[in-house]
Amino acid sequence: MRTAWLEIDLDALEYNWRLIQTKAQGEVIPVLKADAYGHGALFLARYLLARGARRVAVARVSEGRALRQGGVEGEVLLLGSLHPLEAEEALRWGLVPSLSTWEAALALSQRARALGLSPRAHLEVDTGMHRTGVDWREAAAFYHRLRELGVRVEGVYTHLASAEEDPAFTELQRRRFAEVRRALGEGPLYHLENSAGLFLYGPSAQGVRVGLALYGLFPGVGLRPILRLKARPTLVKRLEREARVGYGGEYVAKGGEWLATLPVGYADGLPRGQARWVRGPDGALLPIVGRISMDQIAVRLEGPVGLEAVFEVIGKEGKTSLFALAEARGTIVYEAATSLKRLPRLYLAQGRVYAEEDAGGAPLPGLPLAPEGDGL
Ligand SMILES: *Cc1c(COP(=O)(O)O)cnc(C)c1O
Repeated sequence: MRTAWLEIDLDALEYNWRLIQTKAQGEVIPVLKADAYGHGALFLARYLLARGARRVAVARVSEGRALRQGGVEGEVLLLGSLHPLEAEEALRWGLVPSLSTWEAALALSQRARALGLSPRAHLEVDTGMHRTGVDWREAAAFYHRLRELGVRVEGVYTHLASAEEDPAFTELQRRRFAEVRRALGEGPLYHLENSAGLFLYGPSAQGVRVGLALYGLFPGVGLRPILRLKARPTLVKRLEREARVGYGGEYVAKGGEWLATLPVGYADGLPRGQARWVRGPDGALLPIVGRISMDQIAVRLEGPVGLEAVFEVIGKEGKTSLFALAEARGTIVYEAATSLKRLPRLYLAQGRVYAEEDAGGAPLPGLPLAPEGDGL
């Protein structure tokens, strides 16, 4: 029996996936980097590829390799700028890298020739973010050099720098990308918007790359968060007057209150230091008292509960949501979600356990990792 775990709601995921597809009117590339923003990349890759995704995207060669080692056979796109030293590993694992430098392009083509493989890539175009990508004014020339080198350019994309903040700049980037597309002509898949770009402006190319929205963490557009963090108490006790709780003894008991210790802490991704709330077994909001430890928190109860009781440490809305957690740690919801780690995950469909992973993200034996037919 597990005492602390993440629950991923596949019905909510399915809802988000459909909503995003309707909105995108083209290819949706699920972005599963950083272990799918804490939601578990291996399961979601298999699930979404079985639900019609044509490819999934991750950030690192190591993330792509982990998908392959976990049995994912579909197309895997590597975002970011391929380093020449990574070309061989990307090829060996059948990952499709993004190119934005000539050094990486040369390495990819040379290593491919040596291995007897054909080099494939997406070309990233820099339309104003100045992070990765080939300058949009040089994209056409670079594209033709890639083709002369023998690289099959399967996709061309750009990334928005300020989709949530700057409509004029976003439009400028989209215009620049449209110019690039006109210059290059049809053939590769042109993909552009992230979650904010898609939901605030709509699609402007043939595809979108969506992370946050998939997890229901782009707010205000009807998407549903898909993750909960739950835990059972490992100890329940009544405090004496002046009993001090946790490191530094910051919480001092009035006397008589009930306390539950839950086995989840900052090493699992809870922000240390900020007062926070959890939901008790009956749905009541209960305060975390004292400092958050690496592996444990203490929660003040309204009355005694048994050790089988289930607490919701992260929920889908209100004071226990990932949004509230991000605010408490003074950051964005991306960072709050990608901080989640170490916990095993349960994937639920229609309230039933559909699949499960151990704390390392590996599938447990005997349980399905991909939907069979249209069973959901
Ligand atoms: C992370 C990332 C995305 C997804 O962004 P969201 O805001 O989570 O939708 C898309 N494209 C690139 C290049 C990225 O790095």
